[in-house]
Amino acid sequence: HNHIDHATPDKVHAAIAAGDTHAHIPDYEPLDTYRVGGGYTALERLRKGGNWEEVQQSLLDAGLRGLGGAGFPSGKKWGFVRANPGPRLMAVNGDEGEPGTIKDRHYLERTPHLFLEGMLIAAWAVEAERVYLYMRDEYPAVLEILRREIAALEAAGIAAPGYIDLRRGAGAYICGEESAMIESIEGKRGIPRNRPPFVAQVGIFDRPTLVHNVETLYWIARICREGPEVLNGTEKNGRKGLRSFSVSGRVAQPGVYLLPAGSTITDIIAAAGGMAEGHRFKAYQPGGPSSGLLPASMADIPMDFDMLQPHGSFIGSAAVVVLSDQDSARAAALNMLRFFEDESCGQCTPCRVGCEKAVKLMQADHWDQPLLKELAAVMIDASICGLGQAAPNPFLLTMKHFPDEV
Ligand code: SF4
Repeated sequence: HNHIDHATPDKVHAAIAAGDTHAHIPDYEPLDTYRVGGGYTALERLRKGGNWEEVQQSLLDAGLRGLGGAGFPSGKKWGFVRANPGPRLMAVNGDEGEPGTIKDRHYLERTPHLFLEGMLIAAWAVEAERVYLYMRDEYPAVLEILRREIAALEAAGIAAPGYIDLRRGAGAYICGEESAMIESIEGKRGIPRNRPPFVAQVGIFDRPTLVHNVETLYWIARICREGPEVLNGTEKNGRKGLRSFSVSGRVAQPGVYLLPAGSTITDIIAAAGGMAEGHRFKAYQPGGPSSGLLPASMADIPMDFDMLQPHGSFIGSAAVVVLSDQDSARAAALNMLRFFEDESCGQCTPCRVGCEKAVKLMQADHWDQPLLKELAAVMIDASICGLGQAAPNPFLLTMKHFPDEV
């Protein structure tokens, strides 16, 4: 833990603006230390005559999938972007706004250059003319670290001046949705686009655009350095790979835990020091509020991509929140819908009106379950983006697993 954990973004911004960065920036590995340990040799080797398809194959061999939540195979993405004629661009999604998700910050505040090297490798692979690094503004320490280290990369001749364009988000959750992020990068209001066309074809300023999450790029650097085994060498419950779980709620030691991707919630709670004293495990949010709540009786599901879908949930960005016997599933679900109501961009009716209507229905003593289910069907079928499509999950799963509360 460091000072930043207890400082509000406003306070830290003010301190940094006043020139007092010292006390608020955590210890991290700067460029010179990273290079002493072999950093940027993979990038240099590739730039000198590497074959992008070989790197793509190692990502596929490693089983690397997008860690922003969607889980799309990262190597395949490179192929889609490269299939379109240049000039091509790249955007990094660092708008880590999913409630409970703290993994990108965890890596950026410790080893920013593993991320930056991965970013430059991906940019090399698709021949991106420019990289837009879209960072959450509520992470002032991360922004300061990135400013310093990008300047160091430019001074060392590893990145051309201006090649990495650091952009600050402005607190809108929806700007973590890739097409809304692209709108925001273009200087417009951040609202999701209809697809197709996909951003790999028509992205920033209508150019083919590669979009990766921060942690995905961190793993790309590690795969290039350590080989695909760094991920596919771990197996648990029949699932290969590792996952950075952001764990909060009623556990003894909240934090980021790197565990086998096949871990169950039981393993995750154990890694986080067990339940907090006096709390008995009741329910969990597997991956952000869009994944809803599952009961403690379903504690044996591997928390990997594709494993939670049959249960009406998903792993998303692996933001695990643990609830105890002292929490109400009903209140937690209402809290999640209030969040979606606030954060809906408002451009489509099923989501804008649906979230508001759901909040009203969930405030009643007895939930009108047939009406909520009807509302969910419309939101799932007719919303433009994932926010509206997944927003009903909290109340659908609460009705299913905690019927006594509603
Ligand atoms: Fe905006 Fe919601 Fe429609 Fe997504 S589903 S585009 S957040 S109104």
